[in-house]
Amino acid sequence: MTLGAHLAPRARSHIEQADVVFVAVSDPLVELWVQQMNRDVRSLQPLYREGKPRTDTYREMVDVMLAEVRAGSTVCGAFYGHPGVFAQAPHRAVAQARREGFDAVMEPGISAEDCLYADLGIDPGETGCQHYEASQLMFYQRRIDTSAYLVVWQPGVAGDRGYRRFSTPAAYRQVLVDLLAEDYPLDHECTVYEAATSPLQSPRIETLALRDLPAASLAAHSTLVLPPATPLRRNEALLARLALLDDAAR
Ligand code: SAH
Repeated sequence: MTLGAHLAPRARSHIEQADVVFVAVSDPLVELWVQQMNRDVRSLQPLYREGKPRTDTYREMVDVMLAEVRAGSTVCGAFYGHPGVFAQAPHRAVAQARREGFDAVMEPGISAEDCLYADLGIDPGETGCQHYEASQLMFYQRRIDTSAYLVVWQPGVAGDRGYRRFSTPAAYRQVLVDLLAEDYPLDHECTVYEAATSPLQSPRIETLALRDLPAASLAAHSTLVLPPATPLRRNEALLARLALLDDAAR
C-alpha cells in the first residue's frame, strides 16, 4: 500500500527471485519501487480501461500470468494491499495454477483494511465490523448490523452495474445513501478514508454526515467507514442458557 513501507520480507523475496513479476499496485511510484526489485517487471495497469468490464480485465490478468507459468517461468503477481482482499485476479490465478498442477502460494499483505484500523483507531473486535463492496451491497438484499462498524469498499464506483466505470456520478451515490438511510440516520457520521500510498503523504480522513456523501469527492481508492449507530444489545435468552450451564457445573 505505502511506498517503501508495506512489503513483508517473504513477499519481497518472491518478487526478487521470480523470473517474471506482474505488477498491479496503488501508485505509479510504487510500481517503480517494484521495478527495482527484479529485471523483468511487467505492469498489469494497461489492462484496465474505462468502459471495459473489470471482469474482462481480471480474466486477462490471470491469462497473462498463467501463460508465463505454462512456459516454465517462476511467476510472481505483485498486487497492492493484500492480494486476496477485494481482488479477484490473484485468487483465480492461484486456483488456476493449482488446477493445472503447478505450485502456487499467496502471501498476505497489508490491506487498506489494516491501514484504516491503524489510522482511524478502530479495533474491529470492539463491536464487530462488516465489510461490503458498495455495489454488491446495493444489488443484493443484505442485513446491516448497525451495532457494528460498516466498511464500504469501492464507494467511488457504487452502483456500476456493468463493472466498467472508473467512477460513478453523485446520483448513484445518492442511491447508496438512500439504502443506508434505511438503517442509519441521515446525520450519521461517515468517514471517507484514503491510506497514504507514499510516506510523504498523510492519509485522507474526512468525516461528514451521511446525507452529504453524494456531494463528497470519492476516488477509486476511497473507502467509507460508518461507526456503529446503535449500542450492542444483550442476548438475554442465550445468557440465561449459559447461566444454567454455569450453575450445573458448580
Ligand atoms: N487488495 C486491496 C483492495 C483492492 S479493491 C487491499 O488489500 O487494500 C480496491 C478498493 O480498496 C478501493 O475501492 C478502496 O475501497 C480500497 N482501497 C484501495 N486503496 C486504498 C487506499 N489507499 N485507502 C483506502 N482504501 C483503499
